[in-house]
Amino acid sequence: MRSIRRHIPQRTCVACRQVRPKRQLIRLVCSSNGNVAVDTGGERVGRGAYLCRAQECWDIGLGGGKLEHALRTTLALENREQLIRYGEEIREELVSG
Ligand SMILES: [Zn+2]
Repeated sequence: MRSIRRHIPQRTCVACRQVRPKRQLIRLVCSSNGNVAVDTGGERVGRGAYLCRAQECWDIGLGGGKLEHALRTTLALENREQLIRYGEEIREELVSG
């Protein structure tokens, strides 16, 4: 017997390629001016990519160029640092519970 479950949107993390429920991932969106921002509401217009809430995935995504590849953009140094900081902040949140 299989229980009937409500459909949950699934997305793939660009770093580890794991498929997870959309709500567990963080959406990053590339605006028309090439700036990549964290899309907290998940509703911004633009090319989007998803990352887990894991520091490792942010390291791989930002350091390994996977995020840039997924968004078909090149991150400016300042923009990259901004996103790395965001990744560090969410890790702190996880540690503190
Ligand atoms: Zn991941």
